[in-house]
Amino acid sequence: MLSRDDIFNELGIGPVWRLRETAPGQSAPVAYTWDTLTDAVARCTACKLSATRTQGVLGVGDRNADWLIIGEAPGADEDAQGEPFVGQAGKLLDAMLASIGLARGNNVYITNVLKSRPPGNRNPEPDEVAACRPYLLAQIELIQPKLILALGRFAAQSLLDTDETIARLRGRVHQFQGVPLVVSYHPAYLLRNLPDKARAWEDLCLARRTLHP
Ligand code: URA
Repeated sequence: MLSRDDIFNELGIGPVWRLRETAPGQSAPVAYTWDTLTDAVARCTACKLSATRTQGVLGVGDRNADWLIIGEAPGADEDAQGEPFVGQAGKLLDAMLASIGLARGNNVYITNVLKSRPPGNRNPEPDEVAACRPYLLAQIELIQPKLILALGRFAAQSLLDTDETIARLRGRVHQFQGVPLVVSYHPAYLLRNLPDKARAWEDLCLARRTLHP
């Protein structure tokens, strides 16, 4: 069956603009393109993290990816380089992706709940998460991923709006904005807790099975 967008395209009146959440600091809803989203994150002053970050870190990878990987927030390396997961945790993430035949940038897009680094890598605060949320929703709208992999307690709890532990959240398929979401351990945690790597492998297999039953 043709989707609403397909029908509009057939009629020659696409692309369809959908108005979603309100952008930080604005009263009217905004439909982003990649260019306007990149610019908005670069200039964003919607929360106090803009005063201490080096730069906003939007995300990296394939903008048509099936896999959307969401971590917590940029750390020092990411803040300096402008790309998510480039430090030690990022190297492990790349190895985890390779273990299931994926690579950064090839059918995978990587981002964080927060686009700005919290000073000293402290935990994100609720007002910062709320200020950044429209950017994450815009990324999902633009990418239209088939699967979200939430890495770590913070990403999982804030996306699923719960305070359940990772142990309870992993092992099943959740939904975020209509997209299947699988929870796994954060690579930085796995660097300190090697035995849990086996569980992370199970999570990746669950994610892959969800995409390719
Ligand atoms: N940890 C995260 O959650 N995200 C990064 O980009 C880097 C480390």
